[in-house]
Amino acid sequence: MTLDVNQMYLGTAYYPEHWPRERWDIDVAMMADAGLQVVRIAELAWTTLQPEADLFQFNWVDEFLDVAAAKGLSVILGTPTESCPPWIWRNHPEVVATDEFHRIHGGRGRYCYNNRFLQAKIERLVGRMAERYGHDERVTGWQIDNELRGVRCFCQQCQSDFRDWLRARYGSLEALNKAWGTVFWSQQYSTWEEVDLPSADQLTRSTSQILDHSRFASESAVRHLARQARIIRQHTNHQFITHNSMGAYTGVDLTDMVRIDRTISLLLITAWEPIPESI
Ligand SMILES: [Zn+2]
Repeated sequence: MTLDVNQMYLGTAYYPEHWPRERWDIDVAMMADAGLQVVRIAELAWTTLQPEADLFQFNWVDEFLDVAAAKGLSVILGTPTESCPPWIWRNHPEVVATDEFHRIHGGRGRYCYNNRFLQAKIERLVGRMAERYGHDERVTGWQIDNELRGVRCFCQQCQSDFRDWLRARYGSLEALNKAWGTVFWSQQYSTWEEVDLPSADQLTRSTSQILDHSRFASESAVRHLARQARIIRQHTNHQFITHNSMGAYTGVDLTDMVRIDRTISLLLITAWEPIPESI
């Protein structure tokens, strides 16, 4: 079902992978009885969708789509990329975000958006999901990731990408020195290799450096979202793409979500609501 952007719909999140199969019919019937019209699934279900590197399991999604459709509910599919399966992080701990003391810290949503290995894994999974469900009439839209946050990662990849980001932003080291006011306490840089992330082991950290690092972290998160949106768009023409941000959370610049790639429509509030591409 294609949702009408001028209508308000009631829906719920549901996690089929948490429940016995025989419970699905009962729960979906209760949703319908309560007047709900939309249900979101698959958010955070990476290991259920892909328990091994080369094993994809979509049968349970197919089955749930049938159960929902039988009761007239439309489904929003979540891309499950806020979590990261053990089969990835156990063998590649570098995908986990590194803190400012150079220790890795796991947990939901705490991975490095700039890690190329993880990016490839995400793009493969999202591509497979979009190929399979991009034209499925039972799926009304997509939610990318979940409550995106601006993870400040201090790994070597982020260090390298931060310097590239600064080169693009300021154009020259002289301009960077001027913008950051590095003459203060004699912190002028003479080579790009001296420009570090504002990690805890630095002798001095400037507020300008910390601010730009926050901007870089935000943009890294938004690009993570944009990469997925571009893949989904290649496979669908009737489904909306959205994101459930954390509202007034300041770790991600929400305006960047639409500025960074104007072909992408993203929802910038906490409720689900399809928005037209022109916004
Ligand atoms: Zn990183």
